Amino acid sequence: MKKWEANIRKVTPYVPGEQPKRLDVIKLNTNENPYPPSPKVTEALRRMTAEPMRKYPDPEARQLVEAIAREEGVRPEQIFVGVGSDDVLAMIFLTFFNSKKPVLFPDITYSFYDVWADMLRIPYEQQPLNDAFEIECSDYEKENGGVIFPNPNAPTGALLGLSAIEDILVHNQDVIVVVDEAYIDFGGMTCTGLLDKYENLIVVKTFSKSRSMAGMRIGYAIAGEELIGYLNDVKYSFNSYTMNQAAILLGTAAAEDHAYFEETRQKIIATREQAKKELAALGFSFADSQANFLFVTHKEVSAAELFAALKEQGIYVRYFKKPRIDNYLRITIGTDQEMERLYAFLRGYLEKR
Ligand SMILES: *Cc1c(COP(=O)(O)O)cnc(C)c1O
Repeated sequence: MKKWEANIRKVTPYVPGEQPKRLDVIKLNTNENPYPPSPKVTEALRRMTAEPMRKYPDPEARQLVEAIAREEGVRPEQIFVGVGSDDVLAMIFLTFFNSKKPVLFPDITYSFYDVWADMLRIPYEQQPLNDAFEIECSDYEKENGGVIFPNPNAPTGALLGLSAIEDILVHNQDVIVVVDEAYIDFGGMTCTGLLDKYENLIVVKTFSKSRSMAGMRIGYAIAGEELIGYLNDVKYSFNSYTMNQAAILLGTAAAEDHAYFEETRQKIIATREQAKKELAALGFSFADSQANFLFVTHKEVSAAELFAALKEQGIYVRYFKKPRIDNYLRITIGTDQEMERLYAFLRGYLEKR
């Protein structure tokens, strides 16, 4: 072994879902939005020129921050933007989870949380979801160094109501509580209304799912001014220019088109409710998802077999080879046409078998 080996920060990285090179794939594996970004984004793109790229972008990304603040009904000082909510969440782990006590999050959840905790040497304790794959609020009443969970949870889609969130906040007033609302726009109630009452709450959202902008990498945190200030201090100690000019301009255009956002999220909700009926009729069961995906298991056929059969057919879904969930598939809600092709294939496959 070389001497310097001992001084390397070795990490087991997060593995993102596959981005196939083929274009004919029905891509239901990474929870992207099947609809294009707002036409306002296309218009803003046409107006863009290369000239301003000579200069550094606005380090505060003020235009984008203000557009998000208007959309959320909060002050701009309550918004922190980053390169996708992954960047925002990593900054949150770095800034707020510095206790010797463990940070608490579910055992089945966004698989980036344990990666960041391991990388940053943050102690953590995973709280098992109950048999219905729901968060048990009482698991979050023990001493801890912080709490984080997605709402709705991923990859289960199960939603906690506002009173359950408040219950967790009531029991955790001495630590930072982070609610990752990546999927909240598909049927849940945002908990931003609790920010005034709980100054230790941080709500994280993203443009990647409900605003069809995964490729632009825009995410944000909403919290009290004081916490946002600490996040900015860490950001400026790392990289002042996280948001590039295109992200600032196009993200602003997306944030300003509330009508398009409403229209597309309602379409996805309607398709998801139809998918619940279709998949139940095909012998699948699942938690009552309020996200843009369903987490399904079949009464006879294994998830591994279905995953392979679907992939061979050019239909990509997500399979996690992990304890408790290795017989489940996470299926992103696509367009109605894409979903019809999924049902048609499954119908044929399950009949023939
Ligand atoms: C998709 C997702 C994110 C991050 O998305 P970004 O593209 O980085 O904004 C964060 N949390 C959860 C639970 C997600 O599913």
